[in-house]
Amino acid sequence: MAKVIEQTAEKYGIENWGAGYFSINRKGNLVVHPSEGDTSGADVKEIIDDLKRRGIHPPVLLRFPQLIVAQIRKLQRAFKNAIREYEYQGRHLCVYPMKVNQNRFVVEEYLKEGAKYDFGLEAGSKAELYAALAMEQTEDSLLILNGFKDEEFIRLAFAGATAGKSVVIVIEKMSELEHTLRLVNEVSKRNSNAKLPMLGIRVKLYSKGSGRWEKSGGETAKFGLTTTEILEVIKQLKKVGRSDMLKLLHFHIGSQLTDIKRIKSAIREAARVYAKIRALGLKIDYLDVGGGMAVDYDGSRTSFESSANYNAQEFANDVIYLIKTVCDEENVPHPTIIQESGRYMTAYHAMLIVNVQDEIETVVEDFADPIVVTEDDPQVVKELYDLRETINGKNYREYYHDALENREELFTMFNLGLISLEDRGKGEVLFWDICERADYFAHQKKYVSEDFNELRRLLCAKYLANFSVFRSVPDNWALEQLFPIIPIHKLNKKPTEYATLCDITCDSDGVIEKFVDLHDVKNVLELHKLEKGEPYYLAIMLIGAYQEVMGNSHNLFGFPHEAHIYIDKDGYIIKKVIHGSTLADMLKQAKYDVSHLQESFRRNLEEKVRKGEISQADCDELIKFYEKKANSYTYLLPNCKA
Ligand SMILES: *Cc1c(COP(=O)(O)O)cnc(C)c1O
Repeated sequence: MAKVIEQTAEKYGIENWGAGYFSINRKGNLVVHPSEGDTSGADVKEIIDDLKRRGIHPPVLLRFPQLIVAQIRKLQRAFKNAIREYEYQGRHLCVYPMKVNQNRFVVEEYLKEGAKYDFGLEAGSKAELYAALAMEQTEDSLLILNGFKDEEFIRLAFAGATAGKSVVIVIEKMSELEHTLRLVNEVSKRNSNAKLPMLGIRVKLYSKGSGRWEKSGGETAKFGLTTTEILEVIKQLKKVGRSDMLKLLHFHIGSQLTDIKRIKSAIREAARVYAKIRALGLKIDYLDVGGGMAVDYDGSRTSFESSANYNAQEFANDVIYLIKTVCDEENVPHPTIIQESGRYMTAYHAMLIVNVQDEIETVVEDFADPIVVTEDDPQVVKELYDLRETINGKNYREYYHDALENREELFTMFNLGLISLEDRGKGEVLFWDICERADYFAHQKKYVSEDFNELRRLLCAKYLANFSVFRSVPDNWALEQLFPIIPIHKLNKKPTEYATLCDITCDSDGVIEKFVDLHDVKNVLELHKLEKGEPYYLAIMLIGAYQEVMGNSHNLFGFPHEAHIYIDKDGYIIKKVIHGSTLADMLKQAKYDVSHLQESFRRNLEEKVRKGEISQADCDELIKFYEKKANSYTYLLPNCKA
């Protein structure tokens, strides 16, 4: 591999966060591999060029369903190894928590591969359950229902059981048990052979997770039953002779659990609860350890929020070993372990490709060439000029601080009416020149102090990227979660610019100003200089979990175009292209009736024709134009033809 490519790969950290799925080819383009160590790959730049020939321009969401498959296999293998190594007597099954990404293609792809290992689904709402009820599942796979449930939800669950699914209703509140028991009576009166749902209970553990979702666990968690409530559930079930329905014990201490220590203590506690309930004579078969397996978005392998200090094998070993140890101590059978990992399964498979539309100038630029300062100029401008002319590697710190003071004075004098607009302009240009020089000298040094890091952020370019943070990476906005960002081409050239990203919404929060880094969080991203007439594309990576579903319609930016890509030894196949939302789609969402809009637009114009203000021909053309535009893409059209 050429030296520069090696360096850019390291700069963007591909090997740290890529889990073996991404690399750079000799052309300097980003490549996706269908599994770790697989040499076949798809050139992302070629895919984008291909799509452009079909009239599909960025932003485009690329889905690589094979990466879902690869993640399923990775996790399944890890547990298989651990089960063998520790001679665990039970099985390990997964259910896919639909809330992570309910997209039909994602769920279908999961079930297609998951069927080989009896993996099932987890639904947390009536709508998710409704979809799940019609999906093909294997006989031994489970359909687990979490979340708050009303009677209608539970009726749907019973319908699923009658239809033959292995449904588990996880009791989160006592009222759910009442509804369930009433329905049990109703259904078994009608047909005593009807298959009934199983019951589960969600335990409120004392142990908490770590990271952003810490609140999901611990005594004050929103979900789960306390010890006394669990005993009450058991008592009521026994009273009506239905304790055989209780089959599963569940806990979930949060998503993106960054610290394995916390996970281990929760598992130890839950295994103990399982064993004690078993000892009460209840035949619980399943211990559901919830989701929470973290994705190492920044590749640092630490307990930092966007990372994880463990891998799949370590996770599997700990789960299996701890549950086995507790069960053996307590002399109870090893349960079938259920895992509800969603983020881990889907994060890698999707990326958003955006084009950089333009650069937003923040630094004051000098339009008139070299600044000339004369005796007549105000003192403050003359001082700034002197600072600029004499700043060097030794005095840059002092001179920069002087310049800050001078700028303050410049604005004060302007506000008092003491200097002209031209003087102010001259002073601003000189100030930013000094900043650029100070920045240069500061970064020659080994150690760069905080104020000069801050300065670099002020000086850096702002690249206007054609997407909406709110639609496509809402967690970056809401939770400051980091996603790796990398150009999909030019990776054989050294990136020479420092930039942050602005999206195209009219919201000053619509920016990305934090970037992944192995040791820290970067305030600026190294990118290539924009060349006139040449497109520049970036990929926002690892957005397959939560982002699509949580994204919103801020400014009425809709779903981006979407393409499904399969990779084989000859390259790639574009399996499916789904057009993004149109203006009409988004307007409908905001309760506009597009035909009403068009009619009122038409009426206004016709009125003007009657008054003789515009011609009939102009009117017809405008109406045609307006009606046609209802079908446009909500994002910007490319500036350059290339
Ligand atoms: C959200 C959720 C999950 C999925 O968590 P991940 O961190 O995506 O694996 C699993 N189980 C329950 C109950 C959840 O609420």
